[in-house]
Amino acid sequence: MYVTLTCPYNLFFLFLAYIVVLSAIVFIYRRISNSVCAWEIKKSDLYERINLLQAELEQASRIESALQRKKNRYLALESMMQKLSYNLSLEAVAHYIVQKTLDMIPKADQCVIYIVDEEKQRLELVDSAGVDVDFYRLPKTGDIFDKWIIKHACPLLIEDTSQDYRFDLESLGKTTPVGSLISVPLILEEKVIGILRLNSFDKYTFYSEDLSFLQTIGDLAAVAIGNTILYKRMESLALHDGLTGLYLRRYILERLDEILLYRKQSTFSLLMLDIDDFKKYNDTYGHTAGDIIIKSIAKILLKHTRRHKDIVARYGGEEFLIYLEGKDTRSAVEIAERIREEIAQKEVVLRRTPTRVTVSIGVASYPKDGRDRTTLIKKADERLYRAKSMGKDRVCSA
Ligand code: GH3
Ligand code: MG
Ligand code: MG
Repeated sequence: MYVTLTCPYNLFFLFLAYIVVLSAIVFIYRRISNSVCAWEIKKSDLYERINLLQAELEQASRIESALQRKKNRYLALESMMQKLSYNLSLEAVAHYIVQKTLDMIPKADQCVIYIVDEEKQRLELVDSAGVDVDFYRLPKTGDIFDKWIIKHACPLLIEDTSQDYRFDLESLGKTTPVGSLISVPLILEEKVIGILRLNSFDKYTFYSEDLSFLQTIGDLAAVAIGNTILYKRMESLALHDGLTGLYLRRYILERLDEILLYRKQSTFSLLMLDIDDFKKYNDTYGHTAGDIIIKSIAKILLKHTRRHKDIVARYGGEEFLIYLEGKDTRSAVEIAERIREEIAQKEVVLRRTPTRVTVSIGVASYPKDGRDRTTLIKKADERLYRAKSMGKDRVCSA
């Protein structure tokens, strides 16, 4: 009875238990599969974030290295600025600029600096650095690209020199090793005073970022070069006479001391020259006319002397002292005679009247007439006054 009664119940409970267990299994399975799914989602989320972070990290390290590069460049610029601020020789400044520019933009093969020579109205190569600059003989007065910069006064980037049809490429010649270049004008007070240029033997070496960095270097270079030009002008004003452009008395005396300091036996001569009866010209034609005579004599003196060897100075009002390097008395007298003759023959028009002046010249030579400055000048002066006393318009060397 118990069995018969309990049997359907057993089955029912068994079935119930089976359902419960099955539901539990399904439930647990679902929970597990849900959490596996969630875990997978989380995992792919995490991977995605890791990837993003990695990309950000790479970007940040790229930015960091770019910033580091920029920082290094600006530190180099700062040190360049300091170095340039106390250097007043154009040659030294130009040399430093080309070296330093190549250091700062090392992908370039050559760096060249040109300065505008105002007198000759053309570019002059001042300095260069880099690979084979001597071998390829850079153009001394610039090429088509440099002339373009002078004309347009703006920076230039040439990615491929053989393909830039803005330029007459044939005029470059086939031997040019330059594949690409960047170049900037050196501008001071709105005037182009020079060019700073980087060459590469390869094509497509430079980017616009390099060009703007070169322009920054060029701006500093222009100020430094401007200072050297100003200093040279001031130095020249301090050493030269305003009326004739000849050296001042102080300069030739100092130079003579320097020359005599290490002088052994090699000869040189001094000419002391004075205009004859100059008071008369001043009195007849006025002081301004007198100045014209002084200027015309200065011109003749420069014509008969060598620019880098001899020294021509205005010693007094109408007196001149000339140093002739390597000339003994005989050669010095020949030069003095040529000067005297040309002055005597030269016609100067004063107040519409053609006039002629004469000069007297005293000659003294080292070491024959003395070994120190004072003795040599005294000897030349004594001979000048002997020439005067002998009737003027003559050269006296004894
Ligand atoms: P001498 O033949 O003996 O030399 O006679 P001189 O008249 O030339 O006399 P001196 O050499 O003493 O000349 C001095 C004169 O030169 C005085 C002055 O009027 C003139 N002089 C000096 N410096 C200048 C100058 O810069 N310009 C002009 N116009 N005259 C000057
Ligand atoms: Mg005199
Ligand atoms: Mg005189």
